[in-house]
Amino acid sequence: MEKKIAVLPGDGIGPEVVQSALKVLDQIADIFGHRFTYETGLIGGCAIDETGEPLPAETIELCKKSDAILLGAVGGPKWDTLPGDKRPEKGLLGLRKSLQLFANLRPVTAFSSLAEASTLKKEVIEGVDLMIVRELTGGIYFGEPRKRKEINGEETAIDTLVYSKSEIERIIRKGFELAELRSKKVTSVDKANVLESSRLWREVANEVAKDFPNIELEHMLVDNAAMQLIRSPKSFDVVVTENMFGDILSDEASMLTGSLGMLPSASLSADGPGLYEPIHGTAPDIAGKGLANPLATIASLSMMLKYEFGLEKEADAIQEAIDSVLLQGERTSDLAGGEKALSTDEMTEKVIVQLKEKA
Ligand code: ATP
Ligand code: MG
Repeated sequence: MEKKIAVLPGDGIGPEVVQSALKVLDQIADIFGHRFTYETGLIGGCAIDETGEPLPAETIELCKKSDAILLGAVGGPKWDTLPGDKRPEKGLLGLRKSLQLFANLRPVTAFSSLAEASTLKKEVIEGVDLMIVRELTGGIYFGEPRKRKEINGEETAIDTLVYSKSEIERIIRKGFELAELRSKKVTSVDKANVLESSRLWREVANEVAKDFPNIELEHMLVDNAAMQLIRSPKSFDVVVTENMFGDILSDEASMLTGSLGMLPSASLSADGPGLYEPIHGTAPDIAGKGLANPLATIASLSMMLKYEFGLEKEADAIQEAIDSVLLQGERTSDLAGGEKALSTDEMTEKVIVQLKEKA
């Protein structure tokens, strides 16, 4: 297979962890006989420094003509004093918008070897393997009107929660399609006892479910979902929900595993290239020191192979290599590596050795 990947390292530890993932990608290409070419683009603070813009037009062009995008992270204290619309983070929001990335996928896998890093009991998190599918382009973050006005002589703020049927349908459908690749259960999360948009959400979910007779659909109110994620996270497979609920639940779920350095994500569009990135930020406190945990970015690469290119064997090989390395007790400093903590490069090398051994 031949694919072209846009690589956007970004700021802070972004370039370090992206570099690691590319080494792993080269290894996968070698082992499985694929050809992956990449071209690097600017986004975020580094783009501001070079071009004055967080998202240069060239970067958008590069992404649009690529088959997938691998991103590190954007932002950092250096650019925190810039006005809101000039910030590095605007680059990422702009990219999501220009590529129409409407579905954000966040798998949460609890590694039993890392159970000590979680705040929950080992019995609760062992075996957790769920995926949160969050709608990314609609809902209360974007609905109009959004304004301040005087009501009854008092300053009042208004946000509006809007969802069209087609917006709901495409995200719910994505959830079901993902469930077909997994344990075949979809939990649709809403607040249908209060919100009209949630009642439409539920109706659409029931309709879409008819096209997937082999998949179980359950509806859950968001407050209950927040509780169940902590109480019995193993009862979830695919969780599909709207923008704000997804924002909150995915951060909650990410804490089940205990480390930001482990968690990948993907943002998908209807037919263009998807964006793959770790959920952690630029970690300015450790940037440039060679200490960053590269596993979240390597796992994001695994998602790219699986969801963008349909390369399941290759994706699984990466996932298994990560598992083995952790089982062997290898740790970066964020995973309580202590004195013997591995550097970014050393951890990357361990993953590559595993890939070679199992090839
Ligand atoms: P942002 O604002 O950039 O989205 P954040 O401020 O919420 O991100 P991070 O930049 O991800 O958070 O960092 C939070 C903490 O986690 C920091 O102490 C950082 O060093 C640590 N951290 C984050 N990612 C990693 C990683 N890959 N390896 C090691 N430590 C990490
Ligand atoms: Mg930060």
